[in-house]
Amino acid sequence: MPAQFDINELHWLLDIVQSIDVGVVVTDREYRVEVWNSFMENHSGRSATEVAQKTLFELFPEIDQGWFTHKVETAVMLGTRAFTIWEQRPNLVRFKSYQPITGLADEMYQNVTILPLRSTNGETDHVCLIIYDVTGVAVNKRQLESANAQLQELALRDGLTGLLNRRHWEQCVEREFARHMRYETPVSLVMFDIDHFKAVNDTYGHQTGDEVIREVARVTRNMARETDYAGRYGGEEFVVLLPDTDLNGARQFAERLRLAISKLRVDHEGKPLQFTVSLGAACLDSRMNAHAELIERADKALYQSKENGRNQTTIFQDE
Ligand code: GH3
Ligand code: MG
Ligand code: MG
Repeated sequence: MPAQFDINELHWLLDIVQSIDVGVVVTDREYRVEVWNSFMENHSGRSATEVAQKTLFELFPEIDQGWFTHKVETAVMLGTRAFTIWEQRPNLVRFKSYQPITGLADEMYQNVTILPLRSTNGETDHVCLIIYDVTGVAVNKRQLESANAQLQELALRDGLTGLLNRRHWEQCVEREFARHMRYETPVSLVMFDIDHFKAVNDTYGHQTGDEVIREVARVTRNMARETDYAGRYGGEEFVVLLPDTDLNGARQFAERLRLAISKLRVDHEGKPLQFTVSLGAACLDSRMNAHAELIERADKALYQSKENGRNQTTIFQDE
């Protein structure tokens, strides 16, 4: 303190501490509160007189006492500041957040500085906590992260149907192929194509055609398991990779799907429109060299179904 210390300056300092928009708390080494600024009053709903001589842990039971005292004691011992940041610990004390627009945060996110205070005798008798409200920053960052995750997800999916797009689906097949080759577990592929789809487009228009594609995709998605990979392979061509499924299981899946699709009705100007699909199924074989061979076999089987009159399932047979 300067020798010519003006009492006014102390008042100014106190005014500043009172009015800044960060929390300022000073405690003694027993964590009893001695200074509590208006930010703290406003957010905790407790006045400075009310909290005087209460410990931080009485006032905020949510503080992890072991962690916090270790942090403070280390700072005091080293004579340096310590920090906590919201990314590691969203907050030190639980305050309501006033960010009604976002609807994302109920609680204030905080960064906290722990400042050991040395007295004139050189002893550190007090500790100051400075609490910053970083809810705005935190919410922005969280929103950005979630938007990025959504974008990433969108880039993997087909716009019309929401199924995996061809590129991503093929990557999944490649990965599963390697995995199942290594562990010698079965994996099957069902490929199917809407019958006489050109006629649907030509007769009822593209809009109705699109609706047929969407409906087929919806049924496929509902029928597939969580672990299956359902994709849109081409215009009206679909694929489902079935991990841990042998040819028998694939045949059952394909037939259930064929029947379900044949029962669909898409409305066209008040009239119900029906359609069918032809399917091909193939199973991974230890002699295969690449995932493309599995796709090729399912495709061949699908072609057989078309040749034999459509609306049926063919299982690939090795000649
Ligand atoms: P087949 O029974 O042999 O499969 O006969 P098809 O008429 O279904 O055969 P083809 O594969 O030649 O026809 C597919 C048609 O699907 C051609 C294309 O115009 C149409 N198509 C492809 N993508 C879309 C799409 O996204 N929307 C609509 N409405 N039509 C599409
Ligand atoms: Mg077709
Ligand atoms: Mg086709």
